[in-house]
Amino acid sequence: MTPNNKSPHGKTSHSTTAGAREKADKYTEFVSAGLGRDLAKRLGLPQPAILRRYNPQAPLVEGPILVLGQGSGADAVAQVLLDWHQDVRRHATPKTKLGAIVAVLDDVQNPGELSEPMLAVAGSLRDLNKNARVVSISRLAAPDDAPETAAARNAVDGIVRSLAKELRAGATANGVVLENGIAADSPSAMAALRFFLSGRSAFVDGQFLSAASEGSRQAPNWEKPLEGNIAVVTGAARGIGAAIARTLARDGATVVAVDIPAAGDHLAEVANEIHGTALQLDITNPEAGNRILEHAMSRYGRLDIVVHNAGITRDKLLANMDAARWDSVVAVNLEAQLRMNKALLANTCFADNGRIISVSSTSGIAGNRGQSNYAASKAGIIGMVKSTAPLLAPSGGTVNAVAPGFIETAMTAKIPFATREVARRLNSLQQGGKPRDVAEAIAFFAQPQAAGVTANILRVCGQNLVGQ
Ligand code: NAD
Repeated sequence: MTPNNKSPHGKTSHSTTAGAREKADKYTEFVSAGLGRDLAKRLGLPQPAILRRYNPQAPLVEGPILVLGQGSGADAVAQVLLDWHQDVRRHATPKTKLGAIVAVLDDVQNPGELSEPMLAVAGSLRDLNKNARVVSISRLAAPDDAPETAAARNAVDGIVRSLAKELRAGATANGVVLENGIAADSPSAMAALRFFLSGRSAFVDGQFLSAASEGSRQAPNWEKPLEGNIAVVTGAARGIGAAIARTLARDGATVVAVDIPAAGDHLAEVANEIHGTALQLDITNPEAGNRILEHAMSRYGRLDIVVHNAGITRDKLLANMDAARWDSVVAVNLEAQLRMNKALLANTCFADNGRIISVSSTSGIAGNRGQSNYAASKAGIIGMVKSTAPLLAPSGGTVNAVAPGFIETAMTAKIPFATREVARRLNSLQQGGKPRDVAEAIAFFAQPQAAGVTANILRVCGQNLVGQ
């Protein structure tokens, strides 16, 4: 994550406008063609791919989708993909390059039953196109499952995480985990499948989304899934927050962009660009939650989505930690969110189908030297999300978090060259993510279709080698 947050605001990069093709880092560009590619190959250096990122005009995947799995569940998933106008295959066809493999493993009852579908996946891996997707659909291993069933279901975890490490050329492997019901009948599971297949999940690798069978039964508008929604994004003046605001706006939401008064100019730029409104507010203000609600209600008469993105770092080894560093990080990154959530939950304006999405960090999962305060706040978010989910559930609301790994922002650009170069390669995709990669995951959680996806912590880290 970022070294510290003491510097003045950098320029907000407009090259990150959602939908545009973004440049890869210089090393990736160098090893992607010609002499650089040959050299990297000969020396065995990392060869990160230029990732396929979401573009509303581009196909969902680049090539046919092979759906593997025996039961009626696999047939039904194949039918959903056909309804999405995809080129679906039920058997491998020699010499056909594939855009994706979907392995439907929802009826697996014991480990022996994994062999056949996994060897079928294995047989088609060499046919995958660049930036292809492998997505498993399996069932949650529950404590009341028979041990062999739980073993088989949990085995999928190991398979997907290992395969993600094996794939190259921008291809990823991820999994949808069914909490209940039938995959094809679960709008949330199918929305998660679509997210993993699409360029929206470019920097999500080796991860799982678990979905209950709830979800909007309305015909989805995949291009503008957030049409008519009012969203608030904190820390929206720059970096990841600005990308979240742009992405939610691209998906149809009207966005209230929140940031501290000192960031007012950049905040206004972002808000104007996306035809939203700017709200200058320090989220540590005890009244922040109510101020946000008042702003949204008076301007738009509703509030549907709240993204807690604002965050700071004040790094120091714990041995050298002082109260100012510790307290400020916990106050901004965690206590402000807890207080704002209380205000949201207490207000009937945010009652129906509300969405809360927090930005955690892989530092909160794996820990990071010199970031005990930051990791405390980001791990705290994970606890907060899990215990807030049941509070929102009765009104159809969800709360989830994303945990970004190394993301290319103004802050990470300030890390010394050698440290930065190592940090950004330490994941299966061998590159840093873009702010919009984090934003796409947040936009997924906000979709009406994802109503059954709650209490998830989704890492957006290219399968960073630290942590899970
Ligand atoms: P950034 O410093 O570029 O932007 C953070 C924004 O939050 C700034 O505009 C800042 O003014 C605002 N902010 C800070 N304190 C605030 C307050 N009290 N009230 C309102 N706004 C406030 O950071 P970023 O890199 O874009 O990170 C955004 C989020 O993503 C943070 O929560 C961060 O911890 C998390 N994250 C970032 C990375 C990364 O690699 N950049 C990795 C993991 C997690």
